[in-house]
Amino acid sequence: MSALKLFDTMSREIREISPRDGKTFRFYCCGPTVYGPAHIGNFRTFVLQDVFRRVVELSGMEAFHVRNLTDVDDKTIRDSQGEGKTLTDFTNFWRDRFHEDCGRLNLLSPHVEPSAVEHIPHQIAMIEDLVSKGNAYASEDGSVYYKISSFESYGRLSRLDQRELKEGASGVMSDDEYDKDSASDFVLWKGRRDEDGENFWESPWGQGRPGWHLECSAMCREYLGDTFDLHSGGVDLVFPHHENEIAQSEACTGHTMADHWFHLTHLLVDGGKMSKSANNFYTLDQLAEKGFSAAELRYVLISASYRQSMNFVARDADGAETFPALLGARQALQKIARFERALAEKAGAADEDLEFETVKTFEDTGAFADAFAALQNDLNTPDCLGQIFSAMKTIKPAELDEGAALREWKGLRFVLEGLGLELPVEEEGAGGDVPENIRAMAEERLAAKQAKDWAAADRLRDEIAEAGWELKDTKEGYDLCPKS
Ligand code: AMP
Ligand code: ZN
Repeated sequence: MSALKLFDTMSREIREISPRDGKTFRFYCCGPTVYGPAHIGNFRTFVLQDVFRRVVELSGMEAFHVRNLTDVDDKTIRDSQGEGKTLTDFTNFWRDRFHEDCGRLNLLSPHVEPSAVEHIPHQIAMIEDLVSKGNAYASEDGSVYYKISSFESYGRLSRLDQRELKEGASGVMSDDEYDKDSASDFVLWKGRRDEDGENFWESPWGQGRPGWHLECSAMCREYLGDTFDLHSGGVDLVFPHHENEIAQSEACTGHTMADHWFHLTHLLVDGGKMSKSANNFYTLDQLAEKGFSAAELRYVLISASYRQSMNFVARDADGAETFPALLGARQALQKIARFERALAEKAGAADEDLEFETVKTFEDTGAFADAFAALQNDLNTPDCLGQIFSAMKTIKPAELDEGAALREWKGLRFVLEGLGLELPVEEEGAGGDVPENIRAMAEERLAAKQAKDWAAADRLRDEIAEAGWELKDTKEGYDLCPKS
């Protein structure tokens, strides 16, 4: 099987992925800050990381995947206090919610999911080490700062040039997040402040709490050692978060932190950054309320290369929410599902319930080999989808014998598991997996028809059609099927 290649932010090159120990590929993904529901932008990053993990495993390597939970930072503390909850109750609630969403999106669980609060002693030990080596210093308010001038290669990942460093390096930065213009000594330990309430821990520098950047360095070291295979996050994490992680970890250990850096470009909504005030902030629940499945969202999120920003169009020119990409994804998934069922029936595999682990044993990807090769080529998910449709055009399930159908079916299943795409299941007689809101509109239309309110009935039929469903009247009531 050919090798997996991926762009590396540090060297700015596409490089082959291979485990240091020749067996298990060990990697870390910066996880969610658990202070609210993850939005579809966060999930672009987590879904593409999941595709990466799947392709690693399907390429014949073992994977060891660590993804943390950021449960102590400026935001979790601020919002837990706003709700009058303990930090633990507050972050546990959002952690569980995150897990539910991950399940719906078919994300494989990381092998370890450490939380920052559970690793305070590890973080304190790291700061002590940095202070003793001259890379960090305590300030009068009981905080400890990292001295960026003490780390010669500071700025290497983000290519921060020396001029920017000199201009910015005069002050100190106590906020967890800041931009490139403020490259400066950053906080490792924050002395206790009134606004932190009960959220403080004892340390050699007095009561306080860790800074965000340090949390990941400590958890990486604990679970992956001084050097590991790959580190990953959204592109906004290149600076300052990952730059600071490198400075902390490498000054402590004297070793390169990670061999490969994998960053995912942001999702935009209607051409802009997602924000509640712009009314373009979508969560999985909000899309479900509008009748879209998590699989449809997953399809949209993988339909562009992770190296390019992706614009999720939610509204048309008049501002109406039309979600054209999700409707397109629905049709594409239906097409693949119909094809897959035809192959499975011909192959005598229609009742087989496959899991990722089972698919790993498939050796021959038949006509879908190019689709998998696209994934191994810098995780080119749009090319992979294109290759699936090309292969579907060349194969006529009805004309295949059982053996050939089985081979192609296995190839398709293999690639679909790589993408983590779950296909819609056809309901008996219903012509598809009908979302609740579409079913509700159809029921409303039936009632309107029975009340002879033809205008309302016509309007509802149009709305159903706009949402991608065709409604046919039958003797018993109606039938719904996805528009082809
Ligand atoms: P957070 O919960 O803010 O710590 O972010 C979790 C992950 O989502 C990080 O890897 C971020 O870089 C990533 N992320 C945040 N916003 C977006 C976006 N609009 N598109 C893609 N990834 C994002
Ligand atoms: Zn991190």
